[in-house]
Amino acid sequence: MLRTKDQYHEDLFKMRPNIYIGGEKVGRDDHRIRPGINVLDLTFDVAQDQEWKGLATAKSSITGEEINRWAHLPQNPYDLLQKQKLIRLTARKVGGCIQRCMGHDAINALAICTKEIDATKGTNYHKRFMDYLKVYQEKDLDGCCAQTDSKGDRLKRPSQQENPDAYVHIVEERKDGIVVSGFKMSITQAAYADEVIVIPTRALNEDDRDYAVAFALPGDWEKMKLITRPIWLREKDDKDAAPICKFGGSDSVIVFDNCFVPKERVFMCGEWEFGRRLALLFADSHRHSYSGCKPAISDVLCGATALAAEANNIQMASHVREKLSEFAGAAELAYAAGVAAAIYGEKTSSGVFFPNEIYANVGRRMTGESIYHEFNLLTEIAGGISVTLPFKQDFQAEDTKRSLERFIVRNSNLSPDVSLKIWKLVENLGASPLTAWYLIAGVHGGGSPVMETIALSIGYDYEEKKRLARYLAGIDKAFDDSKALAIEPILERA
Ligand SMILES: Cc1cc2nc3c(=O)[nH]c(=O)nc-3n(C[C@H](O)[C@H](O)[C@H](O)COP(=O)(O)OP(=O)(O)OC[C@H]3O[C@@H](n4cnc5c(N)ncnc54)[C@H](O)[C@@H]3O)c2cc1C
Repeated sequence: MLRTKDQYHEDLFKMRPNIYIGGEKVGRDDHRIRPGINVLDLTFDVAQDQEWKGLATAKSSITGEEINRWAHLPQNPYDLLQKQKLIRLTARKVGGCIQRCMGHDAINALAICTKEIDATKGTNYHKRFMDYLKVYQEKDLDGCCAQTDSKGDRLKRPSQQENPDAYVHIVEERKDGIVVSGFKMSITQAAYADEVIVIPTRALNEDDRDYAVAFALPGDWEKMKLITRPIWLREKDDKDAAPICKFGGSDSVIVFDNCFVPKERVFMCGEWEFGRRLALLFADSHRHSYSGCKPAISDVLCGATALAAEANNIQMASHVREKLSEFAGAAELAYAAGVAAAIYGEKTSSGVFFPNEIYANVGRRMTGESIYHEFNLLTEIAGGISVTLPFKQDFQAEDTKRSLERFIVRNSNLSPDVSLKIWKLVENLGASPLTAWYLIAGVHGGGSPVMETIALSIGYDYEEKKRLARYLAGIDKAFDDSKALAIEPILERA
């Protein structure tokens, strides 16, 4: 089934209120989370659109039915490329994060890891997860991924924390399921997701056994509270607001307070040896997703910078051309890393086709590092107006309207109305709570920068490079480069 956005709303607004914003308990119809719902609406709309069939939809590897691509397990490089394209397409349409990739990356990680746990431990998680996923696909559900624990003292392991709830953990194991407690934090779209998919955030040791837990629950489950912070744009309530103001998001602290998880929804329970594997599978899949969304954000910033240059009538200046070319470099190199990750990917034992970790990580790292610079490019070209622009109401008020209409035009080819719209866009993108969200998400989303260093330390062969240097320095007589280019793209192997 492909849900329409109306069906999504119907399901959402039936949910039990368990969201808290600014000290109030609210329902899913609260206007402060609407901008995030508008983003998800688009993910349902594109799947209904004939133009995007095969991109926004896919053939389920479980049932053979047409499903939303966000619920699909990639089976080959083409599926990964289609996912990357879908993310760039939809993120451009909403002017930023499309949010639905988190659930997609979580289901991939669980499909792969449950198979591997079963093979080592003789458990039965994979079938259980695939049964869950079948329903998830059939109902076209949306899941958020709750990976990041609140973590307490960063230098202490989960089992060493003074407060055991710093990490989500198993409190009790029963025949029919488990009871869990603890805090997850910064969970995007939890407030308007159908499902909350929980996985570990880090490598674990034997003492951390109770923290090796993965499960999924409906978003409004008993004994689960979402304390939510919406990203807020001033103009959201304005019915004439530009499209950029209609879209947004929110992040939640999720409190599990002796919360019961039925057995059929438990996908890891104590297998601490797989904590790192499951955490990294999600992170690496998510870093590949970034190779679709970060180019889209560069596209949006590049377009806004070009428009600002036009509004300032400096579009022909050489430094403007140079700055715009930097956006082209950031967007397309990140995209190229995603394409490389897809075609150099690997088939896992579960049948899921997984992106190449090296390309996924170097692409993600580059986009994370360049995000402040990209916002800086917009600021350099736009000037300071983004933080000093009078409010929209002053452009409409009798006493100030005429002066401000004359004030706002810098390029006589543009009307006051178009000029104002351009500067409002620049303000919303470059000087609003949304700006801060993108800057910080650019650095920490999908893991702090050091996590990419760790992933590269595991996967990248630095010793092989050292052997090359020893040979070139004349220390060693010979150099074996047979492994240097050992990975072949799957397309070549086929
Ligand atoms: C906008 C946004 C959206 C997000 N959405 C989601 C989401 O949907 N789902 C989700 O699960 N997570 C989400 N996250 C969380 C994100 O994955 C984390 O922010 C990221 O993993 C970093 O964790 P942290 O914020 O706790 O920072 P920390 O891990 O506390 O990092 C702060 C600093 O401490 C260092 N540090 C941490 N531990 C140690 C240690 N043991 N030794 C030495 N140094 C250490 C880090 O390297 C870093 O320099 C989101 C984050 C943001 C900003």
